[in-house]
Amino acid sequence: MALPLLVGAHVSAAGGVANAPLNAKKINASAFALFTKNQRRWQAAPLSREQIDAFKLNCQQAGFAANSILPHDSYLINLGHPDTEQLQRSRGAFIDEMQRCEQLGLTLLNFHPGSHLRKISVDECLGKISESINMALDSTSNVCAVIENTAGQGSNLGHSFEQLAQIIDKVEDKSRVGVCIDTCHMFAAGYDLTSFEAAKASFAEFETVVGYQYLKAMHLNDSKTPLGSRVDRHHSLGAGHIGKDGFEFIMSLPQVRGIPLILETIEPEIWPQEINWLRSIANKS
Ligand SMILES: [Zn+2]
Ligand SMILES: [Zn+2]
Repeated sequence: MALPLLVGAHVSAAGGVANAPLNAKKINASAFALFTKNQRRWQAAPLSREQIDAFKLNCQQAGFAANSILPHDSYLINLGHPDTEQLQRSRGAFIDEMQRCEQLGLTLLNFHPGSHLRKISVDECLGKISESINMALDSTSNVCAVIENTAGQGSNLGHSFEQLAQIIDKVEDKSRVGVCIDTCHMFAAGYDLTSFEAAKASFAEFETVVGYQYLKAMHLNDSKTPLGSRVDRHHSLGAGHIGKDGFEFIMSLPQVRGIPLILETIEPEIWPQEINWLRSIANKS
């Protein structure tokens, strides 16, 4: 039996985390992503018992198990920050995010690796990121740290598969680290996805350099910017520079089953159609 297809979108948690599974259900999703706190602020009130219970109940009633839910951390966190004080602040906030996930019964936390801000070397920054992950894993017990590949905009690291592998290499507990591949970021970072064959070659490179055992989630987005642009601008599936063929290849992979596949595309009104299209091409293969 093939694992189930878990497809959804990054939905709103406005009004409380318990609303996210309800919003996901409305678009007929079988997976969803959410922020467990305001993603543009450092501080957040701790989750209350009521919020936690309501979230768990809504997930259960809507049929979302922990493996179909992909929380995303705050945009402010930089786990490779060159400045010691700022790095500590980011690490503290990241541990708090991991603990919030644990309280909600969630097992994945998706985050952007970090930026060197042109103050330290790439290797030094990647080392700080691995160390930050080790510290967060030490302070929690059930959550897997899921590193998102980036478009490589500015000084953001994690745009090449080699950088992702280098971060993972220095993580002590390999059972609780993984990656989330964002197709828009991958394409903007220079990995061709414009045809079935090109996508096959790009994913073969992923398999060699990182390995599918680390693939814990995906963000399925088309790209407004061309191959190798290093600029992160999402587009609706099939409407951007990637086009439909690349997604047809991805949905044919057995490795994308059983992990959350999340849309962060720009027209939430058409998410139900995009989800249906992804299901239809997956079942064709
Ligand atoms: Zn993403
Ligand atoms: Zn993006």
